[in-house]
Amino acid sequence: MIANDQHKFQAIISHAKEYGFVFQSSEIYDGLSAVYDYGPWGSELKKNLREAWWNEMTRMHDNIVGIDAAIFMHPTTWKASGHVDNFSDPMIDNKDSKKRYRVDHLIEGVADQLVQDGKTEEAEQLIASMEALLAANDFAGLNELVESRKMKCGVSGTCNWTDVRQFNLMFSTQIGSVAEESTEIYLRPETAQGIFVNFLNVQKTARLKIPFGIAQIGKAFRNEIVARQFIFRMREFEQMEMQFFIRPGTQKEWYEYWKAERMKWHTEMGIPAEDYRFHDHIKLAHYADAAVDIEYNFPIGWKEVEGIHSRTDFDLKSHQEFSGKKLQYFDNEINQNYVPYVIETSIGLDRMFLLTLCHAYQEEKWLKEDGSEDSRIVLKIPAKIAPIKLAILPLLKKEGLPEIAREIMKECRNEFYCFYEEKDTIGKRYRRMDALGTPFCITIDHQTKEDKMVTIRYRDTMKQERIPIEGLVAFVKSKM
Ligand code: ATP
Repeated sequence: MIANDQHKFQAIISHAKEYGFVFQSSEIYDGLSAVYDYGPWGSELKKNLREAWWNEMTRMHDNIVGIDAAIFMHPTTWKASGHVDNFSDPMIDNKDSKKRYRVDHLIEGVADQLVQDGKTEEAEQLIASMEALLAANDFAGLNELVESRKMKCGVSGTCNWTDVRQFNLMFSTQIGSVAEESTEIYLRPETAQGIFVNFLNVQKTARLKIPFGIAQIGKAFRNEIVARQFIFRMREFEQMEMQFFIRPGTQKEWYEYWKAERMKWHTEMGIPAEDYRFHDHIKLAHYADAAVDIEYNFPIGWKEVEGIHSRTDFDLKSHQEFSGKKLQYFDNEINQNYVPYVIETSIGLDRMFLLTLCHAYQEEKWLKEDGSEDSRIVLKIPAKIAPIKLAILPLLKKEGLPEIAREIMKECRNEFYCFYEEKDTIGKRYRRMDALGTPFCITIDHQTKEDKMVTIRYRDTMKQERIPIEGLVAFVKSKM
C-alpha cells in the first residue's frame, strides 16, 4: 500500500526510471541538476500529450494557427519583454550552508509542514502574509517574516540568512564566430515572445481576423535556483503556449472563456475535476491585468500546471517601441487601428507529463482464490495518450503462434503503437504491460488457429474475453 504521498512521489520517480520513462540527464557523470531525458516510453507519452494539446488548439479552433519559432532571438526582444529587468525571483541565502532559496518556496515549505501538522489556518495566514509582501515588493518584510518564524535551512539547520535579493533567471550565451564580434544572447525563458514578434507575419500570411490565436510548442530555459521535485521544476523544459489576440476592452470575457476552455481540456484528458482548482494571482507579473493558475493536486500538494494571463497590449506595444515597427491591426468592423490585447494560455508539457504519471500510478493488492496475496503496479493512462496501445503476445514461442502474432502486428502497427513480446510467462508479460500503462494486451493461443479469435485483456479491470482478429483494429481505435 502507499504509505503516504511523499512515498508515492518517490515511488513514481523510481518507476519512471525503471520502466524507461524519465532518466536523469548525463547520469553516468552523476547527472546534471534539474535536467532530465525522456526514455522510450516517456518520449512516446510526451509526444501524445504534445499532440493532444496541438490538435485541441489548432484543429478544434478555426481561428488558431501554429508556429515554430527559433529558441535564439534578437537580444532586444528580452529588453522589450521586460525579462532583462524583471525576470527575477526574490532569493535568500543561508550563510552557513551557502544554499540559495527562492524566498516564496522557503515560506511555502514551512506552510506545507503546518498543513501536515494539522495547522491549516496558520498555514493559510502565512501564505496570505507572504503574498501581500510579494505583491508590495516588500523585501524587508519578507526577511522579517522568515526571521520572526525562525525558518531553518534544510541543509545547515540554522536561521542565519542574508537579505532577500533579486536574481535573474535567464541563461545567456554568445553568438558570433570570434570573441570580439560576439554578442550576448539569451536562451528563451518562454516561447511567447516568438509569437509576439511574428504577430504581423502570421496575421497577414494566414489572413486572420481578430479574435485569433497563435499556438507554439517549444523548449524554454530558466536558471531555476530551487531545482527539486523531479520534472516539476527543470532548467530546460517544454512549454505549450497560445496567445489569443483580441479587441481592447474585451479582455475580461475572453479571459473567462479561456479559463473555462482550458479546464474543460484538462478534464477531457481523463483527470477528475476535483483534482484541479483555480488559483488567482495576487501579485501580477509586470505585463498582466489578471492571472490565474490551474493547479493540480500532486502527491506533493496543490501545484501550478498551467497559467492563464490577461497580458493587455504590453508585449506588442513594447516591441513596437523598441523596434520602431508598427504592430497594429486594422479592424474593419469598427474602422479602427489598434494594438490588440492578448489572453495567454501557457502550460508546461513536462508538468502535464508528471501530472499524467501521478494520476495514473496505482499500487494494487488483492486476495487470490487460494487466499494468498497478489499485487501489481499499474499506470492507468487514458488509452488515447498511452505510449503503447496494444501488446501482441503469442502464448508460446513456437507452433506457429509467433507467425500469427507477427501477422496481426503488421496490420495494427500502421494504425497505432503496438508492442510485440514473446519472452517470459504470460503473467509476467501482463505485469510489465501494466507497468507501462498499455491498455490492451492480446494473447494468441492454439485456439486462435482454429477460430481466428484472440484473448484480449483489459489493463484496468484485468478482465479477459475472446474477440475476433478481424475487428481488432476498429476496437482499439474506438477506445482511443
Ligand atoms: P512557477 O511559479 O511554478 O515557477 P511560473 O508561474 O513561473 O511557474 P509561467 O511563467 O506561467 O510559470 O510558465 C507557464 C508554465 O510553464 C507553468 O505553468 C509550468 O507548467 C511551466 N513551467 C514554468 N517553469 C517551469 C520549470 N522550471 N520546469 C517545468 N515547467 C515549468
